This record gives sequence, structure tokens and C-alpha cells, in this order.
Amino acid sequence: MLSLDEFKTSLTLPSPLIPFKPNWEGADKVLLYVKRDDAIHPVMSGNKWRKLSHVFTSSLPKAVVSFGGGFSNHLHALGFACYQLGIPFTAIIRGDYSAAPSPMIKDLMQWNSCIEYVNRVTYKKRGDSAYLNELKLRFPDAVIIPEGGSQALALRGMRDMVDEIEIDFDFIVTPVASGATLAGIVSALNKRNGKVGTDFRSIHKAIGIGVLKGEGYLEGLVEQFLPAFQYQTSWHIEHSYHFGGYAKAPSELQTFCNDFNNAFELDIEPVYSGKAFWAVKDMLAKGVFEDGSRIVVLHTGGLQGAR
Ligand SMILES: *Cc1c(COP(=O)(O)O)cnc(C)c1O
Repeated sequence: MLSLDEFKTSLTLPSPLIPFKPNWEGADKVLLYVKRDDAIHPVMSGNKWRKLSHVFTSSLPKAVVSFGGGFSNHLHALGFACYQLGIPFTAIIRGDYSAAPSPMIKDLMQWNSCIEYVNRVTYKKRGDSAYLNELKLRFPDAVIIPEGGSQALALRGMRDMVDEIEIDFDFIVTPVASGATLAGIVSALNKRNGKVGTDFRSIHKAIGIGVLKGEGYLEGLVEQFLPAFQYQTSWHIEHSYHFGGYAKAPSELQTFCNDFNNAFELDIEPVYSGKAFWAVKDMLAKGVFEDGSRIVVLHTGGLQGAR
């Protein structure tokens, strides 16, 4: 078991920001960087740690309960952090994997997590107040964290990520699923963009890459996290790169990821980062970015999910 300070020392923070020079069409006309949140920790997925970082402060939770699917990067990161810090953790998992636990669930078991499999009907109630009240009675000391770690506190962790970026940039690109990561980036950029006289300059813009089919729905998720702010950083979500839906990975995407992993020093996987980098490659070829644009691609991690 580690103290919070010891645990935090095991993280690579600030995460590296590296120049990225692929030989892709159009890539020579812009400056690309990768913010390597995948490098924060070898076990925990980068953006899931960011979203949880403000849960683990000096007043550590006495116990933690959270929700996710059988391959969830969030449960994986949370289970690991709780194990390291000696905090009892209960994972409520959608579906019954008891006969064939996924690699993620096997890790949780090794980390002494308590695992509860629930059916889809029960899982659907994960946001309902009556169900959450029942859980509070069963786990009176526990902090209950929503699916994906996506809660208001998560935005703070994402703001820390943006604050680490010391260079000037025009665009930051991130994959989007529950929207909290993009919302945290936008709220950080609201501050960074600032107001000049009466004008709000949206110098730094955010582009989300939807990893699931959800035009309109994903924007709603992001907006729900954003305070009504008079001056909003310009952001939008691209919806042409979900490849058929969440975790759908046709062979062209698999091949892209394999080629990428062979060619570059960093690795991607098809659920999140593969779609984000594919999108960047495609947008470069289409000339979406003005010449000279400085583009930061956020590598959110998630390589465990690919197992
Ligand atoms: C969960 C996850 C995302 C999506 O983040 P949201 O805040 O849910 O939009 C992106 N990348 C990885 C690796 C993830 O695990």
C-alpha cells in the first residue's frame, strides 16, 4: 500500500508533449504535437486518471463504488488507484462475466476489488436517485463515482492537463465518448482564451472526435458539463470517424492502428486513440487546417482496453 504522495510520485506528470511528424498528406503544412497522457502510468489509462485525480486528494475516500462495462478503462484505472492506496473498491459491472472474466476484470480481481455483476435493467438505473440512495445505504462510507468518472470534478483534472501545455497552439483534438474530457478542455480554454476589450478571442479551439454514433447526443453531453458561460471557446465534434459505433473496429481501422504502431514510437488502439489519429490524418488530407496551424492531439491512453 502506498501513501498518496508515493502514489503520485509513480505518475509521469506533467505528461510529455512531443512533436509528431508523420509522412501523411498535408502533415508538412502544419505543426503537430501529441500530448502523451498515455504515458502518465503504465497501468492506468491517462484520461481516466485525469478525471479521477481530484477524487484522490488529502482527504482520501474511505471506500469507492463505481460503474462500467466489462472492458472499462475507467473501472480499471479506479480499481488500480484504490488498490494502491488501500481503499476498498466495488465495481458494478454491466453483464455477467463470471464464467469468462475479461482481462480488465481479472486485473480488478487481483487488486482485491469487489465485483458485482448486474443485468442491463439494473445497470440502466445507475443515474437514478432511488437506486443511488439504495447504494448509499449499502455503502455508507463510500464515494459513488458515475460511469466513466464523468462528473464535475473530472473537469478539473482535464483543466490540469491543458494547463500543462506551455506552447501556443491553435487546435486541440480529443476523442469523445461521455463528453467530460472535451468539456474539461473547453472550460480550461475559456480561461486561456480570455477577453480582449469587448472581444472574446477563441485562439485555442477544441475539436472532439465522436467515437460512437451520436450526432446531437454527444454535443448535449458536453454542454451539460459546461457552465452557462457568456464567452464560449469555439469547439465542435466531428461525427464521421466513429466507424459504425462504439468499439466498432473494421479491418481498415485495425490496419491503420497496426501500421501506426509499427511506424511510430507511440501506440494507439482502435476504440479511442485510433479513431482520433485517423481523423487527424483525414482532416489533414482534406486541408481542414490552415497552413501553419499548431495542432495538439491528446492521446488519452486506453491501451488496456485493446487486450
Ligand atoms: C473514456 C475514454 C475516452 C473518452 O472520454 P470521455 O470523457 O468519456 O469523453 C477517451 N479515451 C480513452 C482512452 C478513454 O478511456
